[in-house]
Amino acid sequence: MAMHNPFSLEGKNILVTGGSRGIGKAIVLGLAAQGANVAFTFARSEEAAKEVQSEVEKTGNKCLIFQADAVDFSAAESVINEVTSAWGSLDVVVNNAGITKDTLIMRMTEQQWDDVINTNLKSVFNYSKASIRPMMRQRSGSIINISSVVGISGNAGQTNYAASKSGIIGFTKSLAKEVASRGIRVNAVAPGYITTEMTGKLSEDVLESITKSIPLAKAGQVDDIANCVIYLSSEASKYITGETIRVDGGMAM
Ligand code: NDP
Repeated sequence: MAMHNPFSLEGKNILVTGGSRGIGKAIVLGLAAQGANVAFTFARSEEAAKEVQSEVEKTGNKCLIFQADAVDFSAAESVINEVTSAWGSLDVVVNNAGITKDTLIMRMTEQQWDDVINTNLKSVFNYSKASIRPMMRQRSGSIINISSVVGISGNAGQTNYAASKSGIIGFTKSLAKEVASRGIRVNAVAPGYITTEMTGKLSEDVLESITKSIPLAKAGQVDDIANCVIYLSSEASKYITGETIRVDGGMAM
């Protein structure tokens, strides 16, 4: 008889928000590579989303995609309902969708504040609330929220973003305490400086000074975040809840 592999995601049904690009795309592909069926949402990049969908399908696993603004409360309910009725269960939800609108507070508009708080934090409420009901019925589940080291250390020019990412950490601990007795785990991942489109526009100078502040002396890759999400999705992490795992090369220690 084959030995049980606690790291396997074989047969798990997972939803990821913001899976069309960047870290979310790497998470979707990483989960599928470990055997999961993966549904994901996106906001605008339909072509990119379809490409990710066909890459997942090549692994032999199922993939559903939804164009759904993560800020929209009722859209979150419909997405979760569609996934659970199509696949029969919902084992993991990864709240990854996020944006930045950086500027010093002197210049920050109300719109820039609201957009970042709603997209990054309200979205986590929306998808967590919608998925708690099916997970409670199953008496199992894992919710994984993508925070940031900026939510731990703060960063000038990112009051809105840092508030949203710290908010995610407090939300994660509170929900973890609410649902632990139902077999549902809630954790956060705090990426450091990861090379994506979001960060690709920085100048050489800025990149060099960021690299100097990282003990492992290099930027992280999207796969580094995906691998941590794979672990938190699997039975291998079954005794971990309410935790925020930094994946930052030591940047925020
Ligand atoms: P990208 O900009 O590369 O990708 C963002 C993804 O989120 C896209 O798939 C995008 O969809 C989706 N998205 C954005 N807004 C919405 C919305 N309103 N509704 C639904 N989906 C939306 O970002 P990253 O991959 O760099 O970041 C992913 C997460 O990781 C974010 O939460 C970010 O804060 C966090 N993070 C990133 C770090 C980094 O160094 N890159 C560091 C720390 C944290 P579409 O393609 O349709 O626009």
